[in-house]
Amino acid sequence: MPRPKSPCGTYSAYQRHLRAKEPIDAACRRAQRDHNANRSRLSLQSDTAVQPAPIPVPPQEMFRRCAVDLVGFAERGDLFAVDDLMAEMSGLLDEWRGA
Ligand SMILES: [Zn+2]
Repeated sequence: MPRPKSPCGTYSAYQRHLRAKEPIDAACRRAQRDHNANRSRLSLQSDTAVQPAPIPVPPQEMFRRCAVDLVGFAERGDLFAVDDLMAEMSGLLDEWRGA
């Protein structure tokens, strides 16, 4: 069994795309932006400030975002990206099922 990959929309998935020289999809770009925004907010805030809890993205929403990316990849004929994303989506489906 290969190590489960982080789903699109996470900072680690973004980094994986970079390492694999893959196109960065919208969900991962967003995650990267959030990651950077969090870092700069953290450095500006005093430690007495209350951090809002991050809102977790449910697997079905992640799946929907990936499906949108999948359509884009398919339209561009990017078979490699489609293949990779399909694998991620199958992992998301398991999460969605509560596996
Ligand atoms: Zn991604």
